[in-house]
Amino acid sequence: MKSMDPILTQLNEFIKEPKIAYFSMEIGLANDIPTYSGGLGVLAGDTIKSGADLKLPMVAVTLLSKKGYFTQEIDERGRQSELPTIWEPSNYMALLPSKVYVQIEGRDVAIQAWLYVVKSLTGGNIPVFFLDADIQGNSPDDRELTSHLYGGDLSYRLKQEIILGIGGVKMLHELGFEIKKYHMNEGHAALLTIELLLRYKRPIEDVWDERLVWDVDRVKGICVFTTHTPVEAGHDKFSYDLVSKIMGEPIPIDILKSLGGKDNLNMTLLAINLSEFINGVAKKHGEVSKHMFPGYEISAITNGVHSFTWTCDSLKKLYDKYLPGWANEPELFVRVGRIPDEELWAAHIEAKKILIDFVNAETNAGLDHETLTIGFARRATAYKRADLIFSDMERLEKIATGKIQIIYSGKAHPKDDHGKWLIEKIHVIKEKLKGKIKMAYVKNYDMEKALKLVAGVDVWLNTPLRPREASGTSGMKAAHNGVMNFSVLDGWWIEGHIEGFTGWAIGPSPTEIALTDNVEVIDKRDADDLYAKLETILIPMYYNDRHTWIRMMQNAIGKNAYYFNCHRMMRRYVTEAYIR
Ligand SMILES: *Cc1c(COP(=O)(O)O)cnc(C)c1O
Repeated sequence: MKSMDPILTQLNEFIKEPKIAYFSMEIGLANDIPTYSGGLGVLAGDTIKSGADLKLPMVAVTLLSKKGYFTQEIDERGRQSELPTIWEPSNYMALLPSKVYVQIEGRDVAIQAWLYVVKSLTGGNIPVFFLDADIQGNSPDDRELTSHLYGGDLSYRLKQEIILGIGGVKMLHELGFEIKKYHMNEGHAALLTIELLLRYKRPIEDVWDERLVWDVDRVKGICVFTTHTPVEAGHDKFSYDLVSKIMGEPIPIDILKSLGGKDNLNMTLLAINLSEFINGVAKKHGEVSKHMFPGYEISAITNGVHSFTWTCDSLKKLYDKYLPGWANEPELFVRVGRIPDEELWAAHIEAKKILIDFVNAETNAGLDHETLTIGFARRATAYKRADLIFSDMERLEKIATGKIQIIYSGKAHPKDDHGKWLIEKIHVIKEKLKGKIKMAYVKNYDMEKALKLVAGVDVWLNTPLRPREASGTSGMKAAHNGVMNFSVLDGWWIEGHIEGFTGWAIGPSPTEIALTDNVEVIDKRDADDLYAKLETILIPMYYNDRHTWIRMMQNAIGKNAYYFNCHRMMRRYVTEAYIR
């Protein structure tokens, strides 16, 4: 008799139909499942949520990250410290009885999986498998391999990638899934191609050249790769010494080198060489990637955010009233003009009040409800230039004293000293500006705080150093809440920006030839423009021309949220990558 265990019954349902398997090192599905660090993970979560809304036949694989990324503490001087994030998987997901084994340093390391189901109101369901090495019988070190997201050294990272890529494919097979496409979200999952090469190996007696036992074309035919990294240094690379020490030689080293790079195993290159469809995450990023990997066909599918997740309650209510069905059909934002100005403004004020009260309770910053509020929250790391607005303190004070207040949030990776220094710097400036410009730094940025912030500020500021922002997604979240972007023209904003209509640019357009690589010169040029627009456009319009301001809020929704949502993105993945 078949088992009546409800989880196994559920699994039996899931394996009925062939699936697209989405692999991601991190995934942000809910605020209290802390298995994400930033934009990449939130995108993965949004992808699966939209997939469920659209009833796509998908399954997702990730790591359990039992101790999360980290919980951020910040002392009064702005110094960050990191605590493990404790969470209890069994409160959210079910442990499955199946086990698979991966080879690490010659040992068989057992891997188990937890099943979490993303359920959509449309009736769509997507299973997400969280891989877990914390099993009795594994060595104490091996049991820690799925503890820390982006923790440890290179060897820890490679072992995690073995669990994700190789362990993930094995687990899906063990559970009985038939997979028609494997989608690698960033290079972390690239080792899944090695496992597929092993599975599709041709018998030696069938081929005339020994190298042809490796059916590269067959693997390529079922793999899709999305790259997220616009700079060479950002790609995961491992020395072949480390690779052979940890993995042995699952496929002959000359074959591996021909696919993953001569000198190092480059996970991006490996994924690119074994994928039929490759894409960057915004148009510009697609081009940048083509330059980085000449000779490869690289498409661009611009990111989007999950509309329902990233709209605050007061705007949800408004959209429900005037644009019913918007959450599963964000194209309805095209009719945003139906919402009366007063109601749109009132919904924004409600979100702003919730944010300001929250920030005041958290930080004692004493922010008020009337002042033009600027938000800046994202990973604290050098290229995001969180301090650009403070390039010329005298000028900022002259323009903005009493006229703006600024809310910051964001974690620095534990090993990113510059990122940590930026957090300290902002704290120092916050003290300096006391009595002139109110500022707050909200610690421990997460999805819940992100939603409060993108919905409750008046302007969302983003000042990355080009071309480092592959896409950026927080600005799309802001647009969903009628919050305008004030941003450097990089990533998605190149596509979303219409000056003075959907928001404002900072610095020159991307087609203007960069006359310099000198970062100081670029910083100065961007800061000049930021100050000029703040002084002559944003501040006057906010206080004196509420009508135009609300028109722009509508345009952010009707033009930006209309397009930069995850439903549109997923439809493109389906037609361009999944079924072709
Ligand atoms: C959306 C989001 C990000 C990504 O922000 P960017 O500004 O696009 O880098 C990072 N962290 C959290 C918690 C988010 O919700």
